Amino acid sequence: RKKVGVLDVQGAVREHLLALKTVGVKAVSVKLPEDFDELDGLIIPGGESTAIGRLIREQGLEDRLRTFYKEGKGIFGTCAGLILCSTDESHETNDLRLGFIDIEVERNGFGRQVASFETSLDFTGIEQKVEAVFIRAPYIQSVGPGVKVLAAVDDKIVAAEQKNVLVTAFHPELTEDNVVLNYFLNHFVGLSVTN
Ligand code: GLN
Repeated sequence: RKKVGVLDVQGAVREHLLALKTVGVKAVSVKLPEDFDELDGLIIPGGESTAIGRLIREQGLEDRLRTFYKEGKGIFGTCAGLILCSTDESHETNDLRLGFIDIEVERNGFGRQVASFETSLDFTGIEQKVEAVFIRAPYIQSVGPGVKVLAAVDDKIVAAEQKNVLVTAFHPELTEDNVVLNYFLNHFVGLSVTN
């Protein structure tokens, strides 16, 4: 049976574990390098990207995370997780950027004052509209040539994929429909889940 891990250092960990259980997937919390060993996919949750990045480094998880990526295992970064997966070509920050997907990100891109909002999105590859909850969300300001854009709010890109990595600026674990999670499981983890 396939197993999906949720990186458990800070952020919306429980919500993702719950969503995975709801769709019938074996879900495990990932705190130690050895926790990665039997996983078929990993979710990097939303939260606070500076804090999550610092804890990844402090807890010695960075190398294992990078090998997991190189092994081609499915990775899904949501919100702060998207920020962590992005590149930082201009080296503007010392915060951890894993460079798993060739995107440049504007943190808190919808304005710090806009604490949160919800909207319904067209998402390439998903037939129905996707309910999307944004919480002090980033957006993707530019994508490299290998990146497929999946969704946008006005001109702001909010979902994309490249090779084994999927990212969304919103929190798919906070809505009742599990369509984006199912998209990840079907296309990146090799499961067959129906909506
Ligand atoms: N604003 C947060 C950050 O920059 C991300 C918010 C979230 O994950 N909901 O890390």
